[in-house]
Amino acid sequence: MGKHIIDITLSETKKQKPLSDQLEFGRVFTDHMFIADYTEGQGWGGHRIVPYAPIALDPAATVFHYGQSVFEGMKAYVGKDGKVLLFRPEENMRRMNLSCDRLCMPQFTEQSAIEALEELLVIDKEWIPTAEGTSLYIRPYMIATEPYLGVAPARKYQFVIILSPVGSYYKEGIHPVKILVEDDYVRAVAGGTGMAKTAGNYASGLRAQEIADRKGYSQVLWLDGVERKYIEEVGSMNVFFKINGEVITPALNGSILEGITRKSIIQLLKHWDIPVIERKISVEEIYEANRAGTLEEAFGTGTAAVVSPIGELNWRDEKLVVNNGDIGSLSEKLYNELTGIQYGKIADPFDWVVEVVEPAKA
Ligand code: PMP
Repeated sequence: MGKHIIDITLSETKKQKPLSDQLEFGRVFTDHMFIADYTEGQGWGGHRIVPYAPIALDPAATVFHYGQSVFEGMKAYVGKDGKVLLFRPEENMRRMNLSCDRLCMPQFTEQSAIEALEELLVIDKEWIPTAEGTSLYIRPYMIATEPYLGVAPARKYQFVIILSPVGSYYKEGIHPVKILVEDDYVRAVAGGTGMAKTAGNYASGLRAQEIADRKGYSQVLWLDGVERKYIEEVGSMNVFFKINGEVITPALNGSILEGITRKSIIQLLKHWDIPVIERKISVEEIYEANRAGTLEEAFGTGTAAVVSPIGELNWRDEKLVVNNGDIGSLSEKLYNELTGIQYGKIADPFDWVVEVVEPAKA
């Protein structure tokens, strides 16, 4: 497939950029966005970067009715010497295509998606905040746009990339979070869409999240949908437990999202010769390990927080305090290593970081 030319229309006005200490998550967007359109039989076309603006869709567009919608979440960082850095972008685009496949949506080649993203980042480079811990959150997504009320895969789609400057996740320093183990609601089951990053998974998780919020917990820990016994993942993070010197994370089983942070953490642990295993782990096993005094650390991993130490679990009103509610030394080491690599501050032995360079003009 030939390289698509990206048509560029620059915005005539520039929006005011927020101050770096006032950045929130996902409320402010940059001056431009990338769009491409797909029509069955013709493939992708109309690749363009345009001023950030509302999208007009037919009220019958399939996405509104049957939810064919997938997205990704990644970040761009300003590293040393002002270089713009991405962390494993090919992994996000690969995962987006896996999500598309599950939702019967067309693929957008990884390479074209990364080229489009790089071009957009060069144009909106000034939007990438530079203060410690800040970054530019990148949201690529694809939706079904065909006006049709039949339940069938749409024949038209739109792929969009928008950008949002975000503040440091840990404004007051890294601190352990409280997590509620969810016993009533389930997020996904094997054979469903749990492994895809699709809108419906998040909509179905809102009720449990709302209840957790009310009880003073920052996220829910999902259990498997069949036996309600085995640990799956936390709201928007994968989860790890260190028991008796060994790091355990739930194995990928079709209902868990394969986090890119998760994958990187596993690679780092292996590189450091720290035992790490992907297997089924029940919530009962965690409570037993705690009673036996062998539960050393627990942490979540994801693009937003990178590593989020877990200080407390609550399962059926039984509270479990991990590591006296303090950050574990491994959680802290993993956080420092991964953020160090992402911001280009330390060596990147795995070649995870991609430097964004201005595309050569044809
Ligand atoms: N699980 C879910 C449900 C998520 O939404 C996320 C965030 N993308 C993760 C896990 C972590 O994935 P990643 O490390 O790729 O951000």
